[in-house]
Amino acid sequence: MDKKTLIEWDKKYIWHPFTQMKYWLSDEPTIFIEGRDCFLKDVDGKWYLDGVSSLWVNIHGHRRPEIDEAVKAQIDKLAHSTLLGACNEPSILLAKRLAQLLATKLPWGKPLTKIFYSDNGSTAVEIAMKIAYQYWVNQGIKDKDTFVSLREGYHGDTIGAVSVGGVELFHEVYKPLLNKSIQAPAPYCYRCELKLSYPSCGLACLGEMEKIIKQNHEKIIAVIVEPLVQCAGGIIVWPEGYLKGLRKLCNEYNILLIADEVATGFGRTGRMFACEHEEVTPDIICLSKGITNGYMPLAVTAVNEEIFNAFLGELEERKTFYHGHSYTGNPLACAAAVANLEIFEKDKTIETLPPKIELLKRKLLEIAELPHAGDVRQKGMIAGIELVKDKKTKEPFPYNEQTGWKVVRAARKHGVWLRPLGDVIVIMPPLVVSEKNLERLLDVIKDCIIGLS
Ligand SMILES: *Cc1c(COP(=O)(O)O)cnc(C)c1O
Repeated sequence: MDKKTLIEWDKKYIWHPFTQMKYWLSDEPTIFIEGRDCFLKDVDGKWYLDGVSSLWVNIHGHRRPEIDEAVKAQIDKLAHSTLLGACNEPSILLAKRLAQLLATKLPWGKPLTKIFYSDNGSTAVEIAMKIAYQYWVNQGIKDKDTFVSLREGYHGDTIGAVSVGGVELFHEVYKPLLNKSIQAPAPYCYRCELKLSYPSCGLACLGEMEKIIKQNHEKIIAVIVEPLVQCAGGIIVWPEGYLKGLRKLCNEYNILLIADEVATGFGRTGRMFACEHEEVTPDIICLSKGITNGYMPLAVTAVNEEIFNAFLGELEERKTFYHGHSYTGNPLACAAAVANLEIFEKDKTIETLPPKIELLKRKLLEIAELPHAGDVRQKGMIAGIELVKDKKTKEPFPYNEQTGWKVVRAARKHGVWLRPLGDVIVIMPPLVVSEKNLERLLDVIKDCIIGLS
């Protein structure tokens, strides 16, 4: 189909996510038609370096032959059956692999060996919340009705996930629809609510969390967080010790800890899972984005044996987890995920990261010198540059100026594809990115930020 018709039909029929459609309709959108390694090609034949891993999902590059082959081979056998009352081969192989991976990488508590499948990150969170609630109910504890989450937290867009979300711009309007939750201050040292700077902000925020837990522990079901990096909230990187301290608090007050590693999982932070950095094993973990390298929608909620066992009982006890989806354990998605995990082993992906992480750090230090770079944050292969109007006072640019978008649009002219979070420029390339391409990515971003002044 020709480009003009495609754009016309897109505008006529598609409602884009997180998009003010009034602006979309007056703009010329990009249509991608091909991907290779860390690059995407648009319909005009122009190639872009994929600086945000196609919304944080791509790990090993586009069109990886191993995953292409795995999906094709599975297509020749079975595209879909169901996990409701039946099994399929790829979902079994993947569950075993994931359970072993989680047990090996997160050995500091009860191993996360029971895998519940779904098909997107928000749903993985919904499932974690329902399991956490029913875990207590099944033990006769029925007065727990509240989650604790963090401000600036993001766990997805379904109602349960929004209930524990803390990004005002996305979540405020839905307030009347939401479940009970208490929000604690995020350890966001650059704009600390408690007016403390790095790293004392971390301890103080943990103190606030402790107060909340102390006062409310009898009704708290679980604490849910994005460990180490609150991604969609603006790449907020926690000071060291916060996660470890939170785990301790949860243990002390007998509260479940849910780690939403939908974004941070699968190597982004320089370890397979972010929780590894602080030797924390959560009670429930949510995984999605990187799980299939972006090939197929798939998500996992993994729990420990103790939680799983609380759901065992006679039928009339009503302890069953009444939850499932039509595409649960989809064989094509699971086959892609198995191939994805095999590449981690074969390429030693995690072991290749340290020099790239160092390079990213070095380039970010250069950018930090720029007059509009208010704060520069990094954890592993994830980074965010918070742009401000006035570096001294931290005064943001007016919202309507869309400064983040200005930088991103300029970068597109130079063949770099990005998507900002407000005025935070997000850097999250596929982990397979070469040092040369990573350097180019950062050089283009630097030039485009310089272009603001
Ligand atoms: C993206 C994201 C989600 C939601 O995942 P979807 O697949 O977009 O529904 C949940 N939690 C975190 C931390 C995320 O980054």
